[in-house]
Amino acid sequence: MRSKVTSARRWVVKIGSALLTADGKGLDRAAMGVWVEQMVALHQAGVELVLVSSGAVAAGMSRLGWSTRPSAMHELQAAAAIGQMGLVQAWESSFGQHGRHTAQILLTHDDLSDRKRYLNARSTLRTLVGLGVVPVINENDTVVTDEIRFGDNDTLAALVANLVEADLLVILTDRDGMFDADPRKHPDAHLISEARADDPSLDAVAGGTGGALGRGGMQTKLRAARLAARSGAHTLIVGGRIERVLDRLKAGERIGTLLSPERGMVAARKQWLAGHLQTRGSLTLDAGAVQALLEGHKSLLPVGVKAVQGGFRRGEMVVCLAPDGREVARGLSNYSAVEAQKIIGLPSDAIDRALGYMAEPELVHRDNLVLV
Ligand code: GLU
Repeated sequence: MRSKVTSARRWVVKIGSALLTADGKGLDRAAMGVWVEQMVALHQAGVELVLVSSGAVAAGMSRLGWSTRPSAMHELQAAAAIGQMGLVQAWESSFGQHGRHTAQILLTHDDLSDRKRYLNARSTLRTLVGLGVVPVINENDTVVTDEIRFGDNDTLAALVANLVEADLLVILTDRDGMFDADPRKHPDAHLISEARADDPSLDAVAGGTGGALGRGGMQTKLRAARLAARSGAHTLIVGGRIERVLDRLKAGERIGTLLSPERGMVAARKQWLAGHLQTRGSLTLDAGAVQALLEGHKSLLPVGVKAVQGGFRRGEMVVCLAPDGREVARGLSNYSAVEAQKIIGLPSDAIDRALGYMAEPELVHRDNLVLV
């Protein structure tokens, strides 16, 4: 099963606060440098990378000289705002030493459930990855507190894996992986090397290792693996302090815990798209566009659409109809119904002139399209 790791083309790597700040002693730049070297090597090997980095609260606390984590949410948020500056500076300078650019992205869970923001975030991330830049993502702790409260970015990392259709989510943590019992209490506990993410027996194992709120414990990591599995991603929970951890994973070494999805990428993605959305309108295609979708597995371009029905907004689900009214596909529209009206029948290079801007050249991108 480790072939899934060695062959994965798009990785989301999530690094937790305890690792990044050497257990609360300010940012561990040396450790960051070693991960960066390995990420650059992955990049050179053709892997597309997105980094989800925690550590803002912890770095802010150390900048402020606070030794104990405050309980007031507004103080945690203030610490995150201060620490985020140092965090992105550290990543930027470390990647910069290897001639790589980074980009800061602050996201919330809501951003990823709102269809319009989802598409916006997706386009930006795809563009950055296409430019060879490493996006560095954290939760936007000023406006939301989901991860400060519960997860230390585990859930956010899984949502990002869904968003960018990653093949692999690597959660670097301060444990070696998931064990079949708490290794602090049971010295004979065994590392679970491989399991299915939906295996119900994992709940009991993960339950024992989280804190009172489960903040960043194994429970949130298991939950993250299950979320990532929804878009067909594998998840590796592995010790970030294991020497050359990312290099060794890429080489196929059996370290950490690999949790696999129950379905393959395409099936999972279709189910995820289909299960999430109500349709808000429809597009009637010409015969050429129907053929391009069904046989060529192409995106739907405005030029192939003859009519627009309904009042959908950007990011909402629309039905694609053949000229005889038969449903052929469903997908997320890159343009609202009003905008679509103005651009149907036009070649994509005329979108800018018709609307005054261009979101994407496709009306529905093939990655956001499910054939029926
Ligand atoms: N987004 C937060 C951070 O980067 C989560 C971690 C925490 O709550 O300590 O610091």
